[in-house]
Amino acid sequence: MTASATGSARFLIVGPQGSGKGTQGVLVAEAFGVPQVATGDIFRANVAGGTELGKRVQAIIEAGDLVPDELTSELVRDRLEQADAAGGFLLDGYPRNRGQVDDLDAFLTGRGEALDAVIELVVPREESIGRLKQRATDQGRTDDTEEVIANRLAIYERETAPILDVYRDRGAVVRIDGVGTLDEVTERIFSALAARGLAPNGVSA
Ligand code: ADP
Repeated sequence: MTASATGSARFLIVGPQGSGKGTQGVLVAEAFGVPQVATGDIFRANVAGGTELGKRVQAIIEAGDLVPDELTSELVRDRLEQADAAGGFLLDGYPRNRGQVDDLDAFLTGRGEALDAVIELVVPREESIGRLKQRATDQGRTDDTEEVIANRLAIYERETAPILDVYRDRGAVVRIDGVGTLDEVTERIFSALAARGLAPNGVSA
């Protein structure tokens, strides 16, 4: 079975900060020919571009807090309504709490769609903190200071990790060990998806 045969490749990728979900998410999205929709990237682009949205969210992002659900869910709905997301998408960084799960459920149900898989990247706390420190040096993101990283990880553990139980109850979660080389982790993700009958175009499962 291929993604095109089912006409759907709708994924979430969930993992703590520094788990590599952005990098792996791009690879999965490219392979399946669906857009990667990363809320953090969209917010940062708006801050950089000085848009109205950017002005509203800048201080929140710099503190490592969550942008209000209403604003975030509306942004995601607008993005998923664009033509390139009609056949699927990979969401990175959304939903991040129970309210956003409910918003996404309502949106997808309204369109007669469902998620195919929720990719969970499992990375121990020490490992993700180490990677974030490295990223702070490499990329200079303003929210990669020690204090803000601690806040973002605390919010992840308190609000985001529990949504995985919701998706686990639905049988949607593909749990992946995120420790290893980039290629090793990519390989694990594609094997686990293939085992669920989810293979990119032209690649047999
Ligand atoms: P990270 O996962 O490393 O914290 P992201 O790039 O995913 O980085 O997000 C950066 C920031 O953007 C978050 O700390 C938060 O302020 C905001 N943000 C991104 N996604 C969401 C979301 N789904 N809900 C609320 N705020 C979000």
